Amino acid sequence: MRPFDLSMPADVPAALALLQQDPKARVIAGGTTLLDLMKLDVETPAHVIDITPLARREPSLVAITTLPNGGMRLGALVGNTTLAVHPLVGTRYPMLTAAIEAGASPQVRNMATMGGNLLQRTRCYYFRDTTLACNKRTPGSGCSAIGGHTRMHAILGTSTHCIATHPSDMCVALAALEATIRVRGPAGERTIPFEEFHTRPGDHPEIENTLRPAELVIAIDLPPPRFARHSAYVKVRDRASFAFALASAAVGLDIATGKIRAARVALGGVGTKPWRAVAAERLLTGASAASATWQHAAEAAFADASPQPGNTFKATLGQRTLVRALEMAAAG
Ligand code: SF4
Repeated sequence: MRPFDLSMPADVPAALALLQQDPKARVIAGGTTLLDLMKLDVETPAHVIDITPLARREPSLVAITTLPNGGMRLGALVGNTTLAVHPLVGTRYPMLTAAIEAGASPQVRNMATMGGNLLQRTRCYYFRDTTLACNKRTPGSGCSAIGGHTRMHAILGTSTHCIATHPSDMCVALAALEATIRVRGPAGERTIPFEEFHTRPGDHPEIENTLRPAELVIAIDLPPPRFARHSAYVKVRDRASFAFALASAAVGLDIATGKIRAARVALGGVGTKPWRAVAAERLLTGASAASATWQHAAEAAFADASPQPGNTFKATLGQRTLVRALEMAAAG
C-alpha cells in the first residue's frame, strides 16, 4: 500500500470542504472495499477522508428512524449488522434483512456501512489485477473480461466496454423496495431515486453512479412497507458463505384473493447495476399468483440478456432463481 494523508473531519461541512479542496480524495468509512483495493494498488489515493467521526456531531448518520409517512430512514453510517438485526426493519422489510444476511461474512458486515455498501466496487477479477487491461480502472485500456473468464460477469446492461456485475446483495433489495438516496454536497441536500443512482457502464465504465463532485451519501429512505407479507430474497452462489451472487432475486408481491395487485422485482449477480426487472413486474401485475405466472415473469426478466460464451448458464440460473423467489414470496 502506498503512503497517503488521512483526514478525520469533525462534521459534514468540514468533510464537504475537504472534498471540494481535493476532488481526488477518497472517502472511507468501514473500509471493506477501499482498503482491499489500496493494498492491490487498484486505488492509489494520496488523500483519504475518514467520515466515521461525523456521527458524533450528526447522530442521524448512525440512526434508523421511522418517517412520518410510515417509511424508514437508514443513516449512511449505520452498520450492515446493525441493520440486519433491527427488529422493525426485519418486520417491515424482510427482503432487506435477508439480503444483508446473505452478503459477505459476519466480520465484514460488522465493519460495512450502508453508504459503503451502495458505493462498493465490482469484484471483477480483471479489475483487481493491475497487470491486466480494464476500462473501469484505466479508461480506454480495454476489457480483459470480454473473451476471458466470465463466470461471475453480467448478462444484463452490459456494454462493449465493460461487463462487470455490481456485487451488492443489499442494493438488490433496495432496488426492489424503490429506496431513495439522500445526498449532501456544496449545493445542499438532494434525493436520488435508487434506480437513478447506479449507472450502466456504456462508454464510461469508470463512472458508476450519479453522485456529483464533493457529495456525500447521508441516508437511505425506504417507502412505507407494502410487501412485507409476501417478499423474498434468494441468492445462488458457488459456496454457502462469503461468496458473491451468481444470481439473486429480490421480490415483493401484493396479493389479494389470488391476484397480484403489485409486484417489485430486482436481480443481482446478473446485471451491471442492481437490476430492476420492470418487464417482469408488468407481467406479474394483475396476473394470478400461480406457477405459470412465475415462469413467464422470469422469461420476461431475462429477455434482453446478452451473455458471454462463459456465462450463458446465467440466463437459466437467473430465471430459476427468480422463480424460486416468486414462489417463496407468494407463499408468504
Ligand atoms: Fe474492467 Fe469491466 Fe472489463 Fe472487468 S468487465 S475488466 S471491470 S472493464
